[in-house]
Amino acid sequence: MKCRTCGQKAAVNMRQHKLALCKEHYLEWVPAQVERFIKKYRMFSREEKILVAVSGGKDSLSLWDILHRLGYVADGLYICLGIDEGIAYSSESQRLTEEFAAERGLKLQIVNIQQQTGMTIPELSTATMRGRGKSCSVCGLVKRHEMNRIARDFGYAVLATGHNLDDEAAVLFGNTLTWSGEYLLRQGPVLPATPGLARKVKPLCRLYEREMLAYALLRGIEYIYDECPFAVGATSIYYKELLNELENNRPGAKLSFYLSFLEARKKGLFAEPEAIQQELHPCPNCGQPTSAPGLCAFCKMTSKANTV
Ligand code: SF4
Ligand code: ZN
Repeated sequence: MKCRTCGQKAAVNMRQHKLALCKEHYLEWVPAQVERFIKKYRMFSREEKILVAVSGGKDSLSLWDILHRLGYVADGLYICLGIDEGIAYSSESQRLTEEFAAERGLKLQIVNIQQQTGMTIPELSTATMRGRGKSCSVCGLVKRHEMNRIARDFGYAVLATGHNLDDEAAVLFGNTLTWSGEYLLRQGPVLPATPGLARKVKPLCRLYEREMLAYALLRGIEYIYDECPFAVGATSIYYKELLNELENNRPGAKLSFYLSFLEARKKGLFAEPEAIQQELHPCPNCGQPTSAPGLCAFCKMTSKANTV
């Protein structure tokens, strides 16, 4: 297999694009693709302040690296979840993220959930009786709330996350199985800003997990290899396996599933916005917009956890 650009030995072969590239040209190709998607979906401009949510994993660190290489103004946000039982998942991912930022002279904001709420994610899950199996729903709620808070308090116009195509296709698959109209309507490369909430973007949404893995390895990015211990057995992992099987037999199937969805949505296939648009009001405690009566879900959960 030879690089299409220079004819040297290829380092990465992408059957889905019928494209093979050597290391040098692959490391140019990925940022060029990301730049193309940033423009195509009108994610942000070089004048806007961007906050990248970094977990210490390959996708988010690679995204930060790419935005930096492309000349965007992007700071990082690391949220320490306090998941350190069995394996030192949080402390190790924080160390790698801090090293990544320091080596490149990038600004990193750090939020510690235990300092913020008095409890770690596993403790919050137990205290709110959602049970240990429900750590991911507690964690998702907390992460969303803290990302929105930092974006608002520090004046970031855009919040960027490292979701790749495999993540997006798995979520889409799950929402399609249940025809969750509201979620389908909101899923996409860009979620526009609403009063009190920054715009959310996913610049890697069209890049395969495999492509991001190759990028991180070829770039020599040190990231955390271990999965969060709570990810074991997650439905999204099962959906990813199913989609991989499909992709193995039909290269490009995953991308076409996602892109056809975006096309269908653009044509209004899922649109009944009036029916599902919710009235929002600011949470009396933290000020973030919420549809719940009274306190937002985050404030309700943390006050409950602290009174148990
Ligand atoms: Fe949080 Fe669940 Fe992801 Fe772990 S797997 S970081 S608990 S959402
Ligand atoms: Zn609140």
